[in-house]
Amino acid sequence: MARYILNSNAQSTGEHEVHNTNTCYWLPEPRNRIDLGEHPNCQSAVSEARRRYQGRKIDGCAHCCPDCHTR
Ligand SMILES: [Zn+2]
Repeated sequence: MARYILNSNAQSTGEHEVHNTNTCYWLPEPRNRIDLGEHPNCQSAVSEARRRYQGRKIDGCAHCCPDCHTR
């Protein structure tokens, strides 16, 4: 399990990125991190973020969640 966070700041292209706090070197500033809790994989963390923030564009970080990065 790893702890995942959502960047409260959207990218210039409009999506909010999910990051793995255990492995990512590109984490947003602490004040811009929304805790998503512990997840076994990025797919689970992205699902949680989409459930909580319906209507927002949510994607995985290219660096720490390449399996969930689609943009
Ligand atoms: Zn990341």
